[in-house]
Amino acid sequence: MSWRRRLSDLETVVGFVPTMGALHEGHLSLVYQALEQNEVVVVSIFVNPTQFNNLDDLETYPRTLEADVTLLQTLSTDRIVVFAPTAHDLYDGTPKSKSWDFGSVSRVMEGAFRTGHFDGVGTVLQLLFEAVNPMKSYFGEKDYQQLQIVKQLTAQLGQNNEIIGCSIYREPSGLAMSSRNQRLTDVQKSQAPLIYRVLTFIKDHISSMSWSDLVLWAEEQFESDLGWRLEYLTLADAHSLESKDHYVETEPLRVFIAVHLGCVRLIDNLDLN
Ligand code: AMP
Repeated sequence: MSWRRRLSDLETVVGFVPTMGALHEGHLSLVYQALEQNEVVVVSIFVNPTQFNNLDDLETYPRTLEADVTLLQTLSTDRIVVFAPTAHDLYDGTPKSKSWDFGSVSRVMEGAFRTGHFDGVGTVLQLLFEAVNPMKSYFGEKDYQQLQIVKQLTAQLGQNNEIIGCSIYREPSGLAMSSRNQRLTDVQKSQAPLIYRVLTFIKDHISSMSWSDLVLWAEEQFESDLGWRLEYLTLADAHSLESKDHYVETEPLRVFIAVHLGCVRLIDNLDLN
């Protein structure tokens, strides 16, 4: 890519924000941080087929490239490069996952419920990192498990690419912003903040209630409201992601959730310390 070579010739400090598009304020919070810390920011927009374990999810994933570019143009016209490759170009043929070993971090939660997901994530990020060659790359804690895996990926690739985690950007209701929120009906949008209410209740009561009682309480909340299916609710070590069955104040712990609302799958997580 000649634009990338030109930036290298100018010794420009390049930051990178990989996305799947349908951009919202959550993505923009990463872009703002990257603009503060780099001369040029590359934003990739690519719905990566190899990380979807569910064909329906891939086909219905919102694609709004024109609106995304217009939105980015409102931030900075000359310091943002949009990189929106076709699948064929990026993969140099038919998209196919490599197999990665990210250890136990990749086998729980998203790794357990979305077979092959992190192989797809590792594969596309290797290709994107090679194309963009960033000094710093920005990932949201919204996908906290992915963030831990990307740190491992860059270590395995031996790249000089600092991985920076960015906090979760939420709607005023507490709902974590997500491209998939666009697929919710108005009624579902009014139900969806339940996820954050459950997470904050857990944070507020984790030292006074047992984890098993909190899980029972959470299951009841989702059962009493229509259209929900809880996939997992996990208390885990914030670094190893090893699941825990009780709270210890001195340990770095997080709570993670994946839940279906109608046919939309939503994830969120919260720091408990
Ligand atoms: P996606 O387009 O969903 O693959 O997300 C691209 C990047 O934006 C990932 O690093 C996500 O973790 C991050 N991201 C998505 N939603 C949010 C949010 N609400 N707050 C912070 N980061 C987010």
